[in-house]
Amino acid sequence: MTWSNWAGTANATPLRVHRPRSTAEIAEVVHGITEAGHRVRAQGSGHSFTAIAAADSDALDLTGWTGIERADLETNRVTVRSGTTLRDLNAALDQLGLAMTNLGDIDAQTISGAISTGTHGTGARFGGIATQIAALELVLADGSVVTCSADERPDLFHAARVGLGALGVISTVTVQCEPSFVLSAQERPEPLEQVLDGFDEFAADNDHFEFYWFPYGSKALVKRNNRLPLDAERKPLSRLRQFVDYELTENVGLSAYCRLGRAMPKVVRPLGRVVANLLSAREYSDLSHRVFVTHRGVRFVESEYAVPRESLHDVLAELRAFVPRLQNPVTFPVEVRVAAADDIWLSTANGRDSAYIAIHQFVGMPYREYFDAFAAIAGQVGGRPHWGKMHDLDASVLRTRYPHFDDFLRVRKECDPAGTFANTHLDRVLGPA
Ligand SMILES: Cc1cc2nc3c(=O)[nH]c(=O)nc-3n(C[C@H](O)[C@H](O)[C@H](O)COP(=O)(O)OP(=O)(O)OC[C@H]3O[C@@H](n4cnc5c(N)ncnc54)[C@H](O)[C@@H]3O)c2cc1C
Repeated sequence: MTWSNWAGTANATPLRVHRPRSTAEIAEVVHGITEAGHRVRAQGSGHSFTAIAAADSDALDLTGWTGIERADLETNRVTVRSGTTLRDLNAALDQLGLAMTNLGDIDAQTISGAISTGTHGTGARFGGIATQIAALELVLADGSVVTCSADERPDLFHAARVGLGALGVISTVTVQCEPSFVLSAQERPEPLEQVLDGFDEFAADNDHFEFYWFPYGSKALVKRNNRLPLDAERKPLSRLRQFVDYELTENVGLSAYCRLGRAMPKVVRPLGRVVANLLSAREYSDLSHRVFVTHRGVRFVESEYAVPRESLHDVLAELRAFVPRLQNPVTFPVEVRVAAADDIWLSTANGRDSAYIAIHQFVGMPYREYFDAFAAIAGQVGGRPHWGKMHDLDASVLRTRYPHFDDFLRVRKECDPAGTFANTHLDRVLGPA
């Protein structure tokens, strides 16, 4: 059966699809695959834009291995089976009075797929989802089951939280949660120059700050989310307002604009100048995950680089100068987020406070020139591409961008000497196993 990812940018036809329903079954399947000399990919929800999850021969479908295994309400640590989606995890955490500290834009990913590529949200004092992991249980290539944490096999823990699926199959993930909390959201269009001038201050003053810049326009859509205690008054958006703002304006409206632009590229630039002005300001508050997560109804392709925080202005200035010169226009906004430095070896924020710049294009519209130019600009400041988003870098370049790249490869060699967990994509980004 053919597999393809959410964006339609990667396809594979695995020879065998295994559907284990326990750690023991994962171990048995992996052991058999290694013995046979085949290669296997664990599959998440297919929301990576690259072929990182594409199986060359065997695929592991973990949709039958979901749910919470145990919850410790003293420490707020929750152990979850690896095929669980963030959506289901958030719902289960609600029941326990717990929450994830930070989340990205959507919740369709599995917890293991999300951490394996370094999925992140925004917040100058917060790290990506992998920084919220307290322990992992993994099945290694020989079928052995091991656990790791900051105290137990620390090297494996440094490597496996953002492990690209290259070290083993994650069977359970222990998440360090916190008591449920409310987020107050303020979203409004603001002049881009004003947002850039105040960027450091806004990122410092708000728990979760980000903005979307619409190419060709002078306005940015700015989002400020701030944490409140659970007993704070909640003012969620009404269903009607949600429908009008998110479904009609952001999904139906954006889709219409993109489709028109794909059919008639000439209209993109003039329409792009006014599109941000059409977005209305809104303020609301709700349980954290309902504010972090939005619905993305329009398909797009994406590339994202993490750059040192202090380089953000230079990179954006070059991007802004380049976009008007592109042969083909861009219909989708550029998203800018921030994260605190962390110690995970292949985390895009390893060792440095980071700004994330994500560029997008509507599916079916030319993106090569745009993405290549962006990669060159981000490369000048040592930008690190998101492991789940489009880029062309290989191991020789990535090694120069990650101080612990070779430490990761050492652990990989120990866990998977024969390359059972490799695929064509990993052969490029990590080098042959
Ligand atoms: C609409 C959209 C919005 C997005 N928003 C964000 C965002 O806000 N922030 C952000 O950082 N990223 C974002 N992403 C990217 C996305 O979060 C990542 O690509 C993520 O890895 C996808 O998770 P998945 O479950 O679909 O995993 P997949 O894409 O299926 O797999 C990703 C990797 O995880 C590995 N893997 C999966 N399960 C296991 C396991 N049990 N053991 C070992 N390895 C495993 C796979 O082998 C593969 O290498 C977005 C993507 C889309 C399409």
